[in-house]
Amino acid sequence: MISESLHRTLTWVEIALAVVTFIALRFVSAPYGRHARPGWGPRIPVRLGWIVMESPAFFGFLAIYLQGQHRFDRAPLALASLWALHYGNRVLVYPLRMRPGNKTMPALIALLAIVFNLLNASVNAPQLSTFGRYDDGWLTDPRFIAGVAIFLAGFVINVRADAALLRLRKPGDTAYRVPTGALHDLVASPNYFGEVLEWTGFAIASWSLAGLAFALYTAANLVPRALTNLAWYRSTFPEYPPKRRAIFPWFLVT
Ligand code: NDP
Repeated sequence: MISESLHRTLTWVEIALAVVTFIALRFVSAPYGRHARPGWGPRIPVRLGWIVMESPAFFGFLAIYLQGQHRFDRAPLALASLWALHYGNRVLVYPLRMRPGNKTMPALIALLAIVFNLLNASVNAPQLSTFGRYDDGWLTDPRFIAGVAIFLAGFVINVRADAALLRLRKPGDTAYRVPTGALHDLVASPNYFGEVLEWTGFAIASWSLAGLAFALYTAANLVPRALTNLAWYRSTFPEYPPKRRAIFPWFLVT
């Protein structure tokens, strides 16, 4: 298990990475999905890419979490269950439901995601089972209860929005369409909105710098991409509803 000072350093590295990511993505969109373009090195099949790049977030987290002396305490277990719920879906369910046809993604994207997921697991797993010191009383703390509620609301929004997008295609079809219904009528990327809510809720429920680091990174990654997605929808579909925002239903632009 890593020392507490190394854990703190890694947490600040993740926060710094969030700042760098936010700035970089305002200039360059990550070259996968609708923003895929040539020139980013060797490529791998999309489904394989998602399974491989997200696996460290599930299995790496589990391996590190299980080394902590508080691994079987109820509050850390409850928080780790939220993590497992999200990444169980992301690693085992979501890639099997997607319809990527024979699309590929740059291996570089998968590699960067693996590195980030290992860092993030090294920051958040020890927080829960080693350094956080959550006793049973934490389970009835208003911060835990509110954070779990926000996380679960975000999870439902994320999974439902992803499922609605995946249903836009029949097997073998790789075309893009204008999504409609529920939060899709309000924002271009409701799945990202759900994801940001999830990790904001997790940060509140764990009341930790580690949780905050991941929430900041998620927003730094997904808000710029949602803005790029909105611009892409508007330029690709002339009929795209002009009032739709990028990610947050209550903000004028984003
Ligand atoms: P997208 O919304 O870009 O795509 C999701 C899926 O739906 C893809 O299979 C995509 O196909 C398809 N799709 C999207 N829009 C349309 C459309 N208009 N018509 C038809 N099909 C469509 O999400 P991402 O791929 O960026 O992310 C997937 C999930 O991963 C999300 O839930 C997101 O929140 C999460 N994520 C989390 C991150 C984090 O930092 N925590 C970082 C990145 C993603 P195609 O691939 O062909 O475009």
